[in-house]
Amino acid sequence: MTFTWPDSMRAAAAFSFDVDAESCVLAHDPASSARMSLMTHQAYGPRVGVPRLLRVLERRGVTATFFVPGFTADTYPDMVRRIADGGHEIAHHGYLHEPMQGISAEQEASYLDRGLEALGRLGITPAGYRAPWWELNWHSADLLVERGFRYDSSLLDGDVPYRFTGESGRGSLVEIPVDWTLDDWEQYAFYPGWTGSGVIESPAKVHEMWLLEAEAQHAEGGCFVLTNHPFISGRPSKAVALERLIADVQAMDGMWVTTLAEIARHAETAVADVRSIARVEAPTGARGRAPLEAVDLEAVDLEAVD
Ligand SMILES: [Zn+2]
Repeated sequence: MTFTWPDSMRAAAAFSFDVDAESCVLAHDPASSARMSLMTHQAYGPRVGVPRLLRVLERRGVTATFFVPGFTADTYPDMVRRIADGGHEIAHHGYLHEPMQGISAEQEASYLDRGLEALGRLGITPAGYRAPWWELNWHSADLLVERGFRYDSSLLDGDVPYRFTGESGRGSLVEIPVDWTLDDWEQYAFYPGWTGSGVIESPAKVHEMWLLEAEAQHAEGGCFVLTNHPFISGRPSKAVALERLIADVQAMDGMWVTTLAEIARHAETAVADVRSIARVEAPTGARGRAPLEAVDLEAVDLEAVD
């Protein structure tokens, strides 16, 4: 698919940060609050990771997108204000990073509204949404359009932004697709009893892997979207590797390094076609495991957080 970037730009790169902090752990198991050390592992993000990453971004002169769950905003309002004061975009990431798989539209709407209220208390009206665990539902787009969102960044079926409409066909959103390759969780996350058999990779290896992806996207006129978590990539050597990567990406000729909101704003005018994403169903008679509603979400081993 060809995509036209603004002016002399030939590709785009966005650095995004999901400030999950304690929310994702508490959403999985509220009793996790009893685990003091686990809570501090998550609190490292807002306490140390975000300030360090803000310094990295300031040194590189990069404006980034921070997806902030409403619970994080309520717990760490001063940190969120610091992000905003740095000129960065703040976007929506659920309230308590709730599991989205199989929930009703009404339930999802309540999470969206609670998250909007929390950000609103800090004077923030987000243009963008990223579903917790990148788990969008077929009914999600209509809920987002109804609430005035301009874009989503949770789907995985493209290299460049596109526009799409929800099940009702009313309105449209820009989608800025993501990829598990470009997520620090898969590279670095490890916590006993929480991340399973996570392996903490070398930041040098991760830098190489992500740089290869950025070079390939740059060559093809694509959109490089990196997802990092401050409680993971805010650690010293990982932040150093990230800063090197940012510098490498900035040095690419015609690479537009910007926020997801700016990319979405451009896509709204650059893309005329509005997709209706077809829902693919299993053929009649197909037999599988129990239907989704019967799956006990509490029993699902959560191995990934976004
Ligand atoms: Zn997340």
